[in-house]
Amino acid sequence: MATHKLLLHPADPTCPQVATNVLVECLQSIGLIGEPVRLAAETIYPAGEHFLQLITFLGCSPMIELEPPADTDSLEAGSKDGRYCHVTVTECGGHLQFRADEHSTEPRCPQCRKPEPQWREQLRAWQQDPQHLHWSCAVCGYTGQLTDLNFRKSAGFGRNFIEIRGIYPSEAIPGEALLASLKALTGCHWNMLYVRE
Ligand SMILES: [Zn+2]
Repeated sequence: MATHKLLLHPADPTCPQVATNVLVECLQSIGLIGEPVRLAAETIYPAGEHFLQLITFLGCSPMIELEPPADTDSLEAGSKDGRYCHVTVTECGGHLQFRADEHSTEPRCPQCRKPEPQWREQLRAWQQDPQHLHWSCAVCGYTGQLTDLNFRKSAGFGRNFIEIRGIYPSEAIPGEALLASLKALTGCHWNMLYVRE
């Protein structure tokens, strides 16, 4: 079953990768996440003591479950379907990774804002050969890279991703204190996107 997620990633695709343990220590020190919980296939982090100060929930009184279930089966199942809010931290072996919602719509040219209908083919070519990052706009002639395309919070590139599971699109955003901590750690501004995967 797929989970709704809020993903955070460096806005600049050239931002160097940060080791997962360094990122985890940072997120623990500010109280976004608690102590690791090991599941069968991965490590997750329950919400820390300042989670609700660092993540801003929009709208009125959201039904957010922050407490992980006590029994192992519910813990595993709830991690897959996002029944409770928790965090994972991933790095991509130093390689730039692209993550997108399955229903991501056509990204737009950063200059003329016209959609790029060929984006899936171009991304596939880049994923097969990282040299194919070059992109130019057939409408206005803008010349740059695939990472310049504007995916409007439904896709993005990065070497690190912070994954907050159990968050629906536009339900919550990272607060300024969290974004400032991530910038201080990495030297880059961070962006967000929403996916279901
Ligand atoms: Zn253009």
